[in-house]
Amino acid sequence: MVVGRYAPSPTGFMHYGNAAAALASWLDVRARGGKWLLRIEDLDTERCRPEYIEALKRDIHWMGLEWDHSEPIFVQSERHKVYEEALATLERQGLTYHCFCTRAQLSAIASAPQEGDGNDTTKYRANPCELLSCSQIFKNQQEGRRSSVRLKLPDIVDDFEDIHFGWQSASLREAMGTDPILRRSDGMWAYQLAVSVDDALQGVNLVTRGVDLMPSAHVQRYIINSLGYEVPRYAHIPLLMGLDGMRLAKRNGGNGKYTIMYAREEERLEPMQFIARILSIMGVITPEIDSLSLDEAIDFWSRHPFDANRGVSVI
Ligand code: GLU
Repeated sequence: MVVGRYAPSPTGFMHYGNAAAALASWLDVRARGGKWLLRIEDLDTERCRPEYIEALKRDIHWMGLEWDHSEPIFVQSERHKVYEEALATLERQGLTYHCFCTRAQLSAIASAPQEGDGNDTTKYRANPCELLSCSQIFKNQQEGRRSSVRLKLPDIVDDFEDIHFGWQSASLREAMGTDPILRRSDGMWAYQLAVSVDDALQGVNLVTRGVDLMPSAHVQRYIINSLGYEVPRYAHIPLLMGLDGMRLAKRNGGNGKYTIMYAREEERLEPMQFIARILSIMGVITPEIDSLSLDEAIDFWSRHPFDANRGVSVI
């Protein structure tokens, strides 16, 4: 059975971009008769707030996108133990290292000119901490220096077929630029580890989300594989941008007129009108269709999801 998920970070009210990701993921799953799970990605304690969790559940419910109530909602802030075990599995295989770099050192590494690379910002920047000996690590720890744990990216090319964007091929190192952090020096779990572990343990086999996470898919495939789980299929969708070219999330998406809340409470839209609006912005239906049931939406989606090459959708 197909198992998909929507995995929002509760850092604000759901905007059109979030609605598109939730809807696309629901449609990808429901069009295949599968199961749709909800996961709360609230590891960033500085930005996530409990009231946003309640608000996003209400917004998803209002859109008519019920998550599977027979499965628990995973809440990442409550899953410390699981991530610890997964990290230990990676450590045992020698796939990680301790990094003692300060922020300043990291930005120096990041801006160090690379031989002959011109303006190539995608080039991989090796981290000097991967070469620390056990005794140096021990000494640093004795001095009370805290370390983050990083994944040592192998020098390999990863290929997969994205359901919407087609064939993807990238060097893991170039996709990421640096070895990704798995656990921060303050103990906070990092996105790449948590998302990979949860997709694996929730049995997710179809990940639909914004195309900004395409490079991450390569590293997540590597982590999930290293943990010994089946790697999911990926289905990325274009990001919704404002006319000014800015991502909604970075603009006023979180509290302005492009929120689900505004559509419901100020514009007084019905869910069916809102679903039509989002699918029309994504180019799945024509703008003349101003109301659409979820069953009709599944029908349109199955026949013609959207043209990913059309570029970003503009509101
Ligand atoms: N939590 C991430 C976000 O809200 C999504 C992660 C994912 O879908 O892999 O942007």
